[in-house]
Amino acid sequence: MEQILCFLMLLLFSGASVSAAPTGSSYLSGTGRFWHITDLHLDPSYNQNQDPTKVCFSSKGAPATHAGLFGDFLCDSPYSLIQSAFANLAPLTQPQDFIIWTGDSPPHVPPDELSTDLVIQVISNMTQTIRQHFPNLTVYPALGNHDYWPQDQMPASTNAIYKAAAALWKPWLDADALLTLSQGGFYSQLVKPALRLVSLNTILYYGPDQVTANLSDPAGQFVWLEKTLEKAAQNKEKVYIIAHVPVGYLPFYGNTTAIRKVHNERLVSIFRKFSHVVAGQFYGHTHRDSIMVLLDQHGKPVNSLFVSPAVTPIKDATQEYSNNPAFRMYLYNNNKDYSIQDIWQYYLNLTEANEKQRSDWKLEYIMTRAFGLPDLQPQSLLQLGLSFLLPQTPTFHRYFTHFMVSYDSRITCEGRCKVRQVCAVLYLDQESYSKCAGSW
Ligand SMILES: [Zn+2]
Ligand SMILES: [Zn+2]
Repeated sequence: MEQILCFLMLLLFSGASVSAAPTGSSYLSGTGRFWHITDLHLDPSYNQNQDPTKVCFSSKGAPATHAGLFGDFLCDSPYSLIQSAFANLAPLTQPQDFIIWTGDSPPHVPPDELSTDLVIQVISNMTQTIRQHFPNLTVYPALGNHDYWPQDQMPASTNAIYKAAAALWKPWLDADALLTLSQGGFYSQLVKPALRLVSLNTILYYGPDQVTANLSDPAGQFVWLEKTLEKAAQNKEKVYIIAHVPVGYLPFYGNTTAIRKVHNERLVSIFRKFSHVVAGQFYGHTHRDSIMVLLDQHGKPVNSLFVSPAVTPIKDATQEYSNNPAFRMYLYNNNKDYSIQDIWQYYLNLTEANEKQRSDWKLEYIMTRAFGLPDLQPQSLLQLGLSFLLPQTPTFHRYFTHFMVSYDSRITCEGRCKVRQVCAVLYLDQESYSKCAGSW
């Protein structure tokens, strides 16, 4: 009965327009909200060319045969798509909201199409566009692997891009944050009394970053993170972690961590040690919608982690599926522990938007209602992850459809595909992940 009810609610809400934002009527005043945008990947070359191979540089010569006003699944975002996302998001915001923005502004193009100056120009363009749409909200950015030239090669010391980011983000960040940002690409800032945000530069731990490959603690970020979390604990603050490349395992590859394995192990152990301080973790980079639950050494769920889907709809010509453009809202408990209560996931049906030449961003799902959960605390996410293992459960198919931002619900994920997804939700360290992947 409860499942039928949830399904009905889902049907109701999946058809709702964006104007159906939470008004506060269904949530008590002790609920705070913030928004997450990620992976904008602006492609300034996008144009509706007669020749489909010349629509965008980011398709790398593959024919973008469905190119429309709001983009194509083989291309990064046209400016019109990014503007439509912000124009649809802006009326949903309230003055006390804030925004997290987890990086990757430049397009997926070969390095010789870009330069340090061009990368800074794109980050600057996206910063100005966000400020125009949200003049009164604080935005907390994190740097992505594409926010550098050549891409991924972020150094462990100051450089033109960290400095440019610090200059561009001055309206949002305080002096201490700007200092560490310009030195190492990371920072921490108090959002409100007793709630701190830590923006990590996880590109320093990213496999393709050759300049940090042999460093055990690039830019001293691990030591800084532990100190920052210790101090937060002493001050009785809770912390939200934001970063571009997530900790843990990739849900679409077997046995592959998003960052280097050695750095992943260290980060997991820090997050376990300070799980009582960290109230939520928020990432981008994979372009897909996924969750992770951090378990301690005894298997007790201690942290909730969320990976937000991208604004860009791009996929490789060889990939079976992509994601529709997306942004989301988190609801959190504002009264006591800042724990995450819910996600409202919004999306644009790109095919439909191009056909109608109109961008109706809609609510895709509300997480607690979609899965019949009381909240998104670690215990609830563990319960959801374990439910994926039950035979004949509809929850995993629903989760996988959301993973693709409703790109195509006919695509299924079974066998090895499902093992990878489920092990990535439940296990973040090498020992427990290997056991999971080996036990199927
Ligand atoms: Zn990206
Ligand atoms: Zn990325």
